[in-house]
Amino acid sequence: MSGPLVPSVRGIVDLSHPLDDGTPVYPGDPVARIEPATTIEEHGYNVLHVRMGSQTGTHVDAPFHFLEDGARIDELPLELFLGPAVVADLRGRAPRTPITWADLAPVADRLGPGRMLLLHTGWDAHWGTDAYFAHPYLDGDAAQRLVDAGVRTIGLDALSLDETVLDGESAGGFAAHLAVLGAGGVIVENLRNLSSVTSAEPVVSVLPLRLTGADGAPVRAVAFDVAG
Ligand SMILES: [Zn+2]
Repeated sequence: MSGPLVPSVRGIVDLSHPLDDGTPVYPGDPVARIEPATTIEEHGYNVLHVRMGSQTGTHVDAPFHFLEDGARIDELPLELFLGPAVVADLRGRAPRTPITWADLAPVADRLGPGRMLLLHTGWDAHWGTDAYFAHPYLDGDAAQRLVDAGVRTIGLDALSLDETVLDGESAGGFAAHLAVLGAGGVIVENLRNLSSVTSAEPVVSVLPLRLTGADGAPVRAVAFDVAG
């Protein structure tokens, strides 16, 4: 009988939303359009024509998303996208509430260089509805403190790390994005299914497509449940 390919991996949890024409996007971003380019019936084989924004579905933001001189997605060290993660339980919050440094106190002593932080808001339950846009968000001060603690990869199960405003501007602007990306870090958005991560310290992979010069790229985000 053959054992698992990677002996210490006991299971894999899918943290990615399905990617299709119905995938909700940030207001103003291109919508995904995915259609057959060839079919088995007509050509003998199936190929899709995939059109979408670089920030569609479960994806990673590179510093270049907000900073003209920032690193592009294909220039970043792969270590930013694979490693041990801390999942902060922030469920049960009201719409549009900020996540503050005090809210992160329960996990603060586990944060540091080489650790990803995943904010578990539970907002993925609203995927595909208007409520998805009224998500909790990380306030700028908390983002800066995380960066000061050495964290360079921050993800969440919501549309954006900053508040999403449909009309006008939010008071906080893009403070959290600027703090993380300004430190050469990356942001993972539209994660899902964090409630299925049961391992105390899962290994998480958010390796993006190697899109040349891009501001970000879709990922197949997964958590590995590893034997301690
Ligand atoms: Zn993004």
